[in-house]
Amino acid sequence: MQLDGMHHITMITGDAPRNVAFYADVLGLRLVKKTVNFDAPEAYHLYYGDEQGSPGTILTWFEFAGARPSRPGAGMIHTIELGVPTAASLDFWESRLRDAGVAVERTDAPALRLADPDGLALELVPAVEGNAPLQAAHPDVPAEHAITGVEGARAYVASDVSRDEALLTDTLGFVRTGAGAYRVDGPTRSFRWSYDLHPERGVEGSGTVHHIAWHSADADHVAWRERAAAAGMLVTPVIDRDYFDAIYFRQPQGVLFEVATTSPGFAVDEDPAHLGEELRLPTQHEALRPQLERLLTPLESPRRVREAVR
Ligand code: ZN
Repeated sequence: MQLDGMHHITMITGDAPRNVAFYADVLGLRLVKKTVNFDAPEAYHLYYGDEQGSPGTILTWFEFAGARPSRPGAGMIHTIELGVPTAASLDFWESRLRDAGVAVERTDAPALRLADPDGLALELVPAVEGNAPLQAAHPDVPAEHAITGVEGARAYVASDVSRDEALLTDTLGFVRTGAGAYRVDGPTRSFRWSYDLHPERGVEGSGTVHHIAWHSADADHVAWRERAAAAGMLVTPVIDRDYFDAIYFRQPQGVLFEVATTSPGFAVDEDPAHLGEELRLPTQHEALRPQLERLLTPLESPRRVREAVR
């Protein structure tokens, strides 16, 4: 039983239209689902990814409109690494992002550092060898440079970068690659996970990360739940999130972990050719559609807008 890398990472945005413009237009990801927070349906939950909405490419946002600016602190992810095909792709992105008015910084890693409109730190990095390029199509982003998936994430911890080492390695099957640095190697994808010391407490709000989900084969999901519980984690029951099943637990470093299944995926309630175009509501909230459609800021899929004016 192996986790197949990362499934998705979920953040908070204070402005859904600005979030869509940045991720689905500037970065060229595909908006693959426009739904609401199942636990608070008056707010959007937006999903972006590759053409198919594959696990390993998914970034999601809850919108808390007007959420106050925030800062990551101990127990919170502070940087997300997005893959690009080659080191030469960083030149393309440096120029594209500057043209879009986004401040960028080159590092020796090599990487291109930037912040999204909510202040979330992103790094574009050459993709991990062996990770297949899972890309979205965008007319202004050639496939030789398009984002290939999420390659890694880094979190802050207050003191001991090794506090959760037993959980990560013995229970979840991560491989330790250095002090507070790990890799989770699955059947199809690898993901880098590491910690940096930062004793200050964070402030949750727009631009912070809410949780990270690891990718489980459908058949293994219940066994992952049992394994995490046996390691002393307080694990939720299996929750049906319509597009995958999920379990959650807060791990010893304070980061909220989820384990999510492959199935049924984002095409379960939309034509794969038109993902993310209509507001999808879970069955339990469908009766609220008229109110929600009045309440939620209208959001158009940038792809649908492009196709309409073509
Ligand atoms: Zn999640």
